[in-house]
Amino acid sequence: MSTPTGFMEYQRELPSDRDPLERIKDWNEFHRMFSEEQLRTQGARCMDCGTPYCHTGMELSGGASGCPVNNLIPEWNNLIYRGLWREAYERLAKTNNFPEFTGRVCPAPCEGSCTVGLIGDPVTIKTIEQAIIDRAFEEGWVVPQPPKHRTGKRVAVVGSGPAGLAAAAQLNKAGHSVTVFERADRAGGLLTYGIPTMKLEKHIVKRRVDLLAEEGIAFVTNTEIGKDISAKQLAEEYDAIVLCGGATKARGLGPVEGADLKGIHPAMDYLNGTIKSYLDSNLEDGNYISGKDKHVIVIGGGDTGTDCVATALRHGCTSVSQFGTHAKAPLTRDQINNPWPEYPNVYTLDYAHEEAKVLYGEDPRAFSVLTKKFVGDEDGNVKELHTVQIRRYVDETGRKVYEEIPGTEKVWPADLVLVAVGFEGPESTLVEQLGLETDRRTNVKAAYGKYKTSVEKVFAAGDMRRGQSLIVWAINEGREAAREVDRYLMGSTMLP
Ligand SMILES: Cc1cc2nc3c(=O)[nH]c(=O)nc-3n(C[C@H](O)[C@H](O)[C@H](O)COP(=O)(O)OP(=O)(O)OC[C@H]3O[C@@H](n4cnc5c(N)ncnc54)[C@H](O)[C@@H]3O)c2cc1C
Ligand code: SF4
Repeated sequence: MSTPTGFMEYQRELPSDRDPLERIKDWNEFHRMFSEEQLRTQGARCMDCGTPYCHTGMELSGGASGCPVNNLIPEWNNLIYRGLWREAYERLAKTNNFPEFTGRVCPAPCEGSCTVGLIGDPVTIKTIEQAIIDRAFEEGWVVPQPPKHRTGKRVAVVGSGPAGLAAAAQLNKAGHSVTVFERADRAGGLLTYGIPTMKLEKHIVKRRVDLLAEEGIAFVTNTEIGKDISAKQLAEEYDAIVLCGGATKARGLGPVEGADLKGIHPAMDYLNGTIKSYLDSNLEDGNYISGKDKHVIVIGGGDTGTDCVATALRHGCTSVSQFGTHAKAPLTRDQINNPWPEYPNVYTLDYAHEEAKVLYGEDPRAFSVLTKKFVGDEDGNVKELHTVQIRRYVDETGRKVYEEIPGTEKVWPADLVLVAVGFEGPESTLVEQLGLETDRRTNVKAAYGKYKTSVEKVFAAGDMRRGQSLIVWAINEGREAAREVDRYLMGSTMLP
């Protein structure tokens, strides 16, 4: 235990982020880190409770509760409190291949189920995780560890997002020869193209990919399996295949009048164009959709939409609004419908909302809003968006109903509209070429914990199997899929 009374003596604190008005002028990460002394104090708040839910990684009411990679959180909180950083890093590396990603962008379901959170504010677990791994890199403790022996088995991993990277890391550790195929020009999946640089700077992703390459993993980028190399050829050449292609087939708006006007774009085109242009030329090549001097509207109240808001602010937009059909969350946890240790559904300002509020004076989100139609100018460019407020409820048959509230119609000026209404599932090319069975949501069918698809020697993990989710789940599935592939190839396994 860190200190038996730490949670009563010290308050939860988080490092202050960079000033919103300053940080929107660049594309760098907005988080700052605590001093060592402050981190030790926060570590001391862990009460090392008898049944720590923080590391359980369960799914409750459709959301994560506790850490999906089962990080040994109370152990490293204690080690940080005692100043034993190297030991803390060694504990962390046992369960999480990439804490430098989760420590930055995980929504921290661990904190939602921290026992201290039952009677006060939870321990700052995610900040401590990032501090441990950042310190480990600074001290030179994170070094390539190639396996001592090779098994002679060849495994192909399709997709280099967190699931593919975790699967590759673990399979390589077990001595298999691993090749990761990625259709983009840079490895990392949504860690590279998807999540904006201000949440996760791309040199952090590259540093890990380079380390994995030094451990002996081959990365083949600019190569789409199913197009540049057929899935059948891959199956002939490798002893096993792990599909980690993600689930980024964008959902459309449906039949909304004017949806084909110029200036209406899928959110991922907007985010990824900016990231690529920034990495290629510091945005000088102009190969991206810009929000500069525009009224920007983001349709979709999730994280992807929030990242669009932050990107539009950095482009120098005139105004930005984000619409969601969901109602505004309560300020405190609903103890009946959303009890501890479930992930708390409460109203918070994410980084982009905080920035927009400081700049324009209010939260850019509009809740319970339905887009009715777009209106264009004489050149076919979008210029207005018409909305109405709605009330959502479940009727007596269990059906979700969206009821429009008369008199709440509104017209918004709009020069750029970004559609971020979610993802439908994985693309169909690989599924069709390999003849894979899918589930009712079109994800590749493979049982959680087993990862074996309906086709011999083919496994699936991450978003491609579970649908659009979280990095920490992708790492969890990649690790576990590697274990099952190792068992399939060798008859038994030592992988966790
Ligand atoms: C904008 C955005 C922001 C997000 N922010 C967060 C966040 O803050 N925190 C969080 O925890 N989660 C976040 N997520 C979710 C998280 O990024 C994903 O759940 C996670 O990346 C899934 O990992 P994955 O490895 O399964 O797939 P992905 O990361 O999607 O990687 C799949 C990779 O496979 C490649 N690929 C696909 N098909 C082929 C093929 N046929 N041949 C070769 N390569 C192929 C793709 O190019 C891609 O690189 C965000 C998602 C989005 C879209
Ligand atoms: S990976 Fe996410 S859930 Fe796990 S300890 Fe880190 S922040 Fe918490």
